[in-house]
Amino acid sequence: MKLNIQDTFNKKLQADPSLRNYRRQVEEACFSYVTPRIPSNPSVVHVSDDMLTAIGLDADDAKSESFRKVFSGAEVMPNTSPYAMCYAGHQFGHWAGQLGDGRAINLCEVKNNNTSWALQLKGAGETPYSRSADGLAVLRSSIREHLCSEAMHHLGVPTTRSLSLSLTGDEVMRDMLYDGNADYEKGAVVCRVAPSFLRFGSYQIFMAREDKDTLKTIVDYTINHFHSHIINRENEGYLQFFQEVVDKTLDMVLHWQRVGFVHGVMNTDNMSILGLTIDYGPYGWLEGYDPEWTPNTTDAQGKRYRYGNQPNMALWNLMQLANALNVLVDDVPALEAILKTYQLAYPKRYFVMMGQKIGVVTQGESDMKLIQELEQVLQLTETDMTIFFRLLSDIDQVAMNEQDALNLVKEAFYVTIEEIDDLQHSWLSWFRKYLDRLTEVDAIASDRKKKMDAVNPKYVLRNYMAQLAIDKANDGDYALIDELYKLLKDPYSDQPENQEWFAKRPEWARNKVGCSMLSCSS
Ligand code: AMP
Ligand code: MG
Repeated sequence: MKLNIQDTFNKKLQADPSLRNYRRQVEEACFSYVTPRIPSNPSVVHVSDDMLTAIGLDADDAKSESFRKVFSGAEVMPNTSPYAMCYAGHQFGHWAGQLGDGRAINLCEVKNNNTSWALQLKGAGETPYSRSADGLAVLRSSIREHLCSEAMHHLGVPTTRSLSLSLTGDEVMRDMLYDGNADYEKGAVVCRVAPSFLRFGSYQIFMAREDKDTLKTIVDYTINHFHSHIINRENEGYLQFFQEVVDKTLDMVLHWQRVGFVHGVMNTDNMSILGLTIDYGPYGWLEGYDPEWTPNTTDAQGKRYRYGNQPNMALWNLMQLANALNVLVDDVPALEAILKTYQLAYPKRYFVMMGQKIGVVTQGESDMKLIQELEQVLQLTETDMTIFFRLLSDIDQVAMNEQDALNLVKEAFYVTIEEIDDLQHSWLSWFRKYLDRLTEVDAIASDRKKKMDAVNPKYVLRNYMAQLAIDKANDGDYALIDELYKLLKDPYSDQPENQEWFAKRPEWARNKVGCSMLSCSS
């Protein structure tokens, strides 16, 4: 196994001088050197062939002894110095101080095809940032992270990636619902991959510690490596950098809203500076279209990170990042002006995106109303978001009336709508307006369908699908992990042989743990 290792983060930034692995506050450093824990009996469960190629490896490498050892933490590659990153964050709106990689250990950075990838093991043992936890991860949450990272990428959503999923051979104690029923689960390690794992919290920590020098070093590092077109290293450059982070974050959240992804824990330590979806914990996919929904039971009270609130929360997080960057730029009005661009752009971009989902190039007031009415009517009864938008593209505005249109999307309803008169009435009224609007659209129905199908996925990693793969994997059968991985590589195409996965959530999954309820325990 040969990787083109070219480390930058641990070469250019300040290291914690202490090499002892004990829990502590780490000052004036961006990371601490730490060696992954040696698992008792590691085995590779699944590998993303895409990521294998991306980092310059092949199928034989994936079967090798060194792959098994390196990507489970059993062996450290020569000429590498693994490390855990130091960061802080706001959790659920409250300042939490130092957090850091409590169970993630960066192995190295690899350069291949002109792209740099940081490789990071999640669940590879304790670090100085483990606080009161064990540094480990269980199979359940590792399957969810591995599959979803790759699925999100193929949906066109910016995300960290996942190279591999391995079992450690060790057991890990978890209280899955925090209800006093702790039990042993299989331990696992995922090798995550991204150009960088820097988070908003990686900058916030130096504001909190009033360490302007290290803040400048890490911001300059970020610009040098990921925004190298920005030449200026003073206010002008820092403000441009912030604008670009704002733009990328907006893009990411807009994609989440488009595909119905709910992150679940949008704390500032889980916000990538590169605008990537990061830290797959208690995330979920909307089934019934419901802006109030969050999969995270830990957030069930305030529902801070509910689907409909994600754009606001991204902005709130950007505001916290602005506070940190203000230590360098000392220009609140300029930072506020940049935040304002998000506030102005988001509703406009959302409107355009929703227009694309219904096959309309949005124009004025009346299109806005059409979309707003759709959002209302979608909530009158539980209506499957993915199925609804996918079926919508089959409408032929010439051949169909509103009743035909309603019949076409019937499969998306979790109740039989014939039984509910009011509901039928509302839907027929919306479809009447929609069909009228479509007759104004120049494109012929088949062109429109093509465009709509390119933004409305047919297959997403529904919570119950991941749970089925988890249940089987817990019994030692990993075939479904690969089946779902392959299915989700092509989420926008019709896959007739996979019709079973274009279906509503089955009733048994409605209130099942893992399918509709997830906690932060992972
Ligand atoms: P999260 O919001 O779940 O991404 O994690 C918040 C913080 O807790 C991060 O600093 C994590 O590294 C840390 N953390 C989560 N789970 C563990 C664990 N099992 N062991 C050590 N640290 C953890
Ligand atoms: Mg995190």
